[in-house]
This record gives sequence, C-alpha cells and structure tokens, in this order.
Amino acid sequence: MSKPIVAIVGRPNVGKSTLFNALAGEKISIVKDTPGVTRDRIYADVSWLDYNFTIIDTGGIEPESDNIILKSMREQAEIAIETADVIIFMTDVRQGLVDDDHKVVQMLRKSKKPVILVVNKVDSFEKYMNDVYEFYNLGLGDPVPISGASRLGIGDMLDEVVSHFDEESKNEEEDDRPRIAIIGKPNVGKSSIINKLLGENRVIVSDIAGTTRDAIDTEIVRNGTEYVFIDTAGLRRKSKIKEDIERYSIIRTVSAVERCNVAVLVIDATEGITDQDAKIAGIAHERGKGMIIVVNKWDAVEKDDKTIYKFTKEIREKLSYMPYAELLFVSAATGQRLPKLFETIDAVIENHSLRVATGVLNEIMTEAVAMQQPPTDKGKRLKLFYITQVAVKPPTFVIFVNDKELMHFSYTRYIENKIREAFGFRGTPLKFIIRERK
Ligand code: GDP
Ligand code: GDP
Repeated sequence: MSKPIVAIVGRPNVGKSTLFNALAGEKISIVKDTPGVTRDRIYADVSWLDYNFTIIDTGGIEPESDNIILKSMREQAEIAIETADVIIFMTDVRQGLVDDDHKVVQMLRKSKKPVILVVNKVDSFEKYMNDVYEFYNLGLGDPVPISGASRLGIGDMLDEVVSHFDEESKNEEEDDRPRIAIIGKPNVGKSSIINKLLGENRVIVSDIAGTTRDAIDTEIVRNGTEYVFIDTAGLRRKSKIKEDIERYSIIRTVSAVERCNVAVLVIDATEGITDQDAKIAGIAHERGKGMIIVVNKWDAVEKDDKTIYKFTKEIREKLSYMPYAELLFVSAATGQRLPKLFETIDAVIENHSLRVATGVLNEIMTEAVAMQQPPTDKGKRLKLFYITQVAVKPPTFVIFVNDKELMHFSYTRYIENKIREAFGFRGTPLKFIIRERK
C-alpha cells in the first residue's frame, strides 16, 4: 500500500546529499516537463530488491556557523521523526564522533523509530575499519560502514533499511479505512475545511498507540463509514528561512500523500491557481493517488455566470497533466458543497481500486484500433495485441505491442480516453505499461 519513507539525518558535510544522489540515480522526483514545477532534490523514489520506498533529504540550508549546527540537526531530526518510517543517521569516519551526534541520537532514540547508524567515507574497509568501532558508543547497535561516493557497502545498508519495513507497514495494511490527505499552501483553508467536517460529523478520538504521525490524523464517521483525514496544516516550523519552510512543507506533503488513497488539493479562490499549487499537485500526480481539487473560499469571490467557467479553464490549463482530477468549488466558511466533497471522495476511492475484466478491455481496444489506425514509422505499423489490467491503486494496464518505439504517447492517451469513456475512472490517474511481444 503506502510506500515507506526513509529520511537521512546528519551533520553538514558527512555526505548526505552524495548518498541521496547515489540512491536516487536519475529518478529524481517532482514531475518532469511540468510548467511551474522545479526539480528539487528533496525526495526521490528508490527501488531495492522487491522494495520501493521514498527517500527524503532533511538537510535544508547548510548552517554557516558551528553554534547553529546542533539547532539545524535537531530540526532535521524532528522532521524525520514526524515523517519517516526508518531514519538513517549518518556520521563521517574522517570527522569521527562529535558531541552533537550524541545529542541528536538521544532525540532519535526517544522517538522509537528504527534508526540505522551509517558511518560514511569508509572508502577502504582495510584502512578505516578500526575507526568505525568508536561509533558503537552511540548505543545504536552495529554501525554500517559505507562510502557514498564510491558506492561501497550501500547494498548492506539497504538490506538493513528494508528489514524494518514489514513491521512498520503491517499496521496500515490491516487498516482499510479510506485515507484522505488534505494538501495545499498555507492559508488556503485546509484546517477550516477539516474543522467544518468535524463539526458536522461524528469524531473518533484516536486510541491507536503510538507514533507521532497519528496525532495529526483525524478520524471522522459519516453515514457509518470511517474516514481518516491526514492534515498537513497542523504543525508548522518556526524557521525563518524561506527555503527551509518550503522544504519542510514539501516533505510533509510527500509523507501525507504517500499514506493516502485520495489527495484533496485545496486552492484559494481569492488568489486563483498559482505555481506553488501546481508543485503540490505534482506530488500527488506522480504518486498515482486519487485526486480532488477543491477551490475554497468560494463565498469570498464576486461571481457572475462566467466565473466558474473561467476558474475551471485556468485550473485545467495549469494542471493539464491531470485532466482526470475532480474539481469542486466550496466554502469552509458557509459549508457550501462540503457534503458533496464526501460523495466525491467515495466515488474517487472506488475508481482508484476499480478492476475491469480483460475481455471487456480487449473489446474496447479492438474497437478503438478499428476507429483510428495505429501510427506507422518507416513503413512499420504499430500493432496492439492484448491489454490487461495488472493492478489497482492506481489502475494499471499492460498493453502488448509489436514494437514499443511505435507506441507514441498520443496513441496511449487515445486508448486511455477510450477506457475512460467506457468506465469513467474519474478522479484517478491510470498507468500504462507497454510491453513487446514479437
Ligand atoms: P552533506 O552536507 O551531508 O549533504 O554532504 P555532501 O554529500 O555534500 O558531501 C560533503 C563532502 O564529502 C563532499 O565534498 C563529498 O564529495 C564528500 N563525500 C561524500 N561522500 C563521501 C565518501 O563516501 N567518501 C569520501 N572520501 N568523500 C565523500
Ligand atoms: P490552512 O493554513 O490552509 O489550514 O488555512 P486556515 O484554515 O487556517 O485558513 C486561513 C484563513 O482563511 C483563515 O483566516 C480562515 O478564516 C480563512 N478561510 C478559510 N476558509 C474560508 C472560506 O471558505 N471563506 C473565507 N472567506 N475565508 C476562509
């Protein structure tokens, strides 16, 4: 279900970014080719053996003076404790153990999250192994020696990381209640929406033992169904540095979205859609989550008969990579159309895990191919042999073709549209995997 999150924490210059880049490879996150979306190296998807996880680099702006290093590390540790399933605490064999390391480790230990002690820059095991032993003093068990730069020991480190996943993810897998992440910039009305929903429905007080994360989950019962709302507004960083605040907000969004079935992106009607909204939307899109865009503060906008049309057009243009997203105009202040939000959530959750029988899919594909011939290139025509749905959340289809190169994006989009015409799938992205069969 939800992908685990692994955070890297450590002093400046121990090699956090180097390891992050080694793990992330080319697969750096944040939607490519999407206007208004920059490619920050804050989080990335990693695959190791059969495991997929998201890695986050908690280090923001590097502190310039020694006396604020500890403060900055404490902030990193807090973010990691709030958002991660497993924490990598990175030290540097060349710098050796320093006092700050002990202090931060104390914090991490209190959190009861699994912490893996990594000693970096062990470029040669022969030469440096003796220096690794002093790190036992941190009381975190066996230090894992690696060299991020020369990619030594990374496999053993990842084995250690993934060994903590099963226990962590089990709890959530048994929990099949719909999970909804409310995401968006500050001040768009995320808390107001949750409070309004709370006011009108029964609330369960969480008695799940445990992690810090549960503290920000709100459970609501409506018509006998329990929903879990994951709020990203609740906690705010005190940092004065704009880049740090943004980094933190992105990490929180990634972590909330990772755990949800449906993301509700809240936009402020009095501002219209902005670049920052698009960046946040991109996080949900690339994670394959159900998507509802809520334009809030609708009460505060002067309206005529074209206003909704104008808003819709602007949003659809800016978020052209997610035409499937549902769109709602609401007001947390008056409660206008908030009941509709629940209906939409129900529908999107259903669509996100909808399965279509292979026979029907192939009928649709055959008909689509008959209506619009597949493209040719250098005298060779694309042939589509077979389609089948291999997964849900999001619905994922494999299409077998004669030549992958010939299956252009636009023809895949055409097939997608035909499937959507037949089954709707509103609010959910669809994934297509193209395979060759000679
Ligand atoms: P960060 O501040 O923790 O993100 O550290 P960086 O990844 O920016 O690395 C700090 C410095 O250590 C850079 O000059 C890296 O090239 C160097 N470095 C990182 N990993 C290794 C390593 O495994 N071995 C050696 N010798 N140097 C490394
Ligand atoms: P958050 O940071 O996204 O959680 O935003 P808040 O819920 O704290 O709301 C930010 C501000 O917008 C507050 O002053 C709210 O009173 C106001 N606000 C929220 N929803 C609405 C709405 O539907 N209409 C109007 N007019 N104001 C709203």
